[in-house]
Amino acid sequence: MEDSQAVTTTDTCIIGAGPQGLAAALQLELVAPSMDVTVIDHSDQWLTAWKTQFARADITTLRSPIVHHPSPDPYALTDFVEQHGFERSGLPYDPPTAESFSAFCSEIIKKAELASPIAAIPETIQSDHTGIELQTSAGVIRSRHLIIATNPHHRNIPQWTWNLVGRQAGLLEHSLDVNLAETPDLEGQKIAIVGGGLTAAHLARSAALKGAEVKLIARNPLRIRDFDTEPGWLGPKYLTKYFAESDVERRIQVAREARGGGSIPEWMHNTLLDLTSSHAMEILDSAEVTSADALSPGGCILQLNNNEQIYSDQVWLATGTQSNIESMRCLKQILADVPVIDGLPLVDHSLRLGPHPVYVMGRVAAFALGPAAGNLWGARHAARRITTAITGIELSSDGYYRQSSGPNNTKP
Ligand SMILES: Cc1cc2nc3c(=O)[nH]c(=O)nc-3n(C[C@H](O)[C@H](O)[C@H](O)COP(=O)(O)OP(=O)(O)OC[C@H]3O[C@@H](n4cnc5c(N)ncnc54)[C@H](O)[C@@H]3O)c2cc1C
Repeated sequence: MEDSQAVTTTDTCIIGAGPQGLAAALQLELVAPSMDVTVIDHSDQWLTAWKTQFARADITTLRSPIVHHPSPDPYALTDFVEQHGFERSGLPYDPPTAESFSAFCSEIIKKAELASPIAAIPETIQSDHTGIELQTSAGVIRSRHLIIATNPHHRNIPQWTWNLVGRQAGLLEHSLDVNLAETPDLEGQKIAIVGGGLTAAHLARSAALKGAEVKLIARNPLRIRDFDTEPGWLGPKYLTKYFAESDVERRIQVAREARGGGSIPEWMHNTLLDLTSSHAMEILDSAEVTSADALSPGGCILQLNNNEQIYSDQVWLATGTQSNIESMRCLKQILADVPVIDGLPLVDHSLRLGPHPVYVMGRVAAFALGPAAGNLWGARHAARRITTAITGIELSSDGYYRQSSGPNNTKP
């Protein structure tokens, strides 16, 4: 190591300042306020990726109910919304608005006096089983514990897109890159949106409302579901059997299948149907793109498996992402000691990576938490398990110290 490099020493380092990393930082702060926690992210602000995603796809309401959020106290967002007079979404199961969720997160970050993340990218991570050394773009961090909350993934890019890649600016975009916030008008644009989940639906709705002629192309008939993961996965109904599955490959397969394919809530389906009846949009479900050809000077032709051909000025891929811990190359040394199946590490109950003091959160924790690990529900549960593992303090089911008498007397 060069002498000129800044060296930070800390108790716990969290990589990733999204909802998962925030849940961990808040739970640690509640249980072990004197613990030194350092957070690093691409951004020097909390929740940048989350907020950008919502703004770009023009999403004004969360999908999950109001009790799911990064705070250890499930009712804190309900109280906050009431106290500050935020509008309720009015949708079934009372999901919070993106605006109230964001204001709430700012408030809990401020109240807990969490420092802003350090903008840094980890380059190498080394563990000697008792501690971690991270070489980052902003210097060296030495830490006793490390929490990975980066949501590591690959984008799902279908093979038929290869003829379109790099042909014309804006011809082909993954949903993560579509920026509706900076697109005031799509009048006259023919846009094909590929995918059958809520992201596809949000993009289709907003593009149609901005004047585009939208074709929503989904492989299967649109699936109407209130939540992206069946609520049975948040409790014993499905999890008991899941945890009892001793065949690890089967368990991973079950977790993937439970999430598999997209779905949309009924209120959004009704919105799409309204747009189709006003001819702003066409839904082509049970249709698959088989090939694509870019045209000169612009646009492309998509060939569908039902022999239909579609002309599009732009193609947006709402085909999702696949979580994969191995996409974080800096974890190579650590992962050499941990079995990984289909991108998911086989972590123990405390979400620890083998013998190393390294813990994972988010979708990559699905082996130990089930298919809802990547959601806000999963963030709270992962934060509790990791906090217990790091501090040795057992938490009650609401995330506070387990008390021998009187409930929650450590609640702030
Ligand atoms: C459009 C959309 C809507 C969703 N709505 C809901 C919902 O309503 N309810 C729900 O429960 N779930 C929802 N989810 C699912 C899930 O809660 C979100 O995907 C959430 O953002 C996941 O949180 P995270 O902290 O794992 O990841 P992210 O929010 O992606 O945060 C990861 C952070 O890590 C940082 N990072 C990544 N790699 C590195 C690196 N190498 N070095 C440094 N920093 C790095 C990123 O900058 C980012 O800030 C939604 C997902 C999407 C895509």
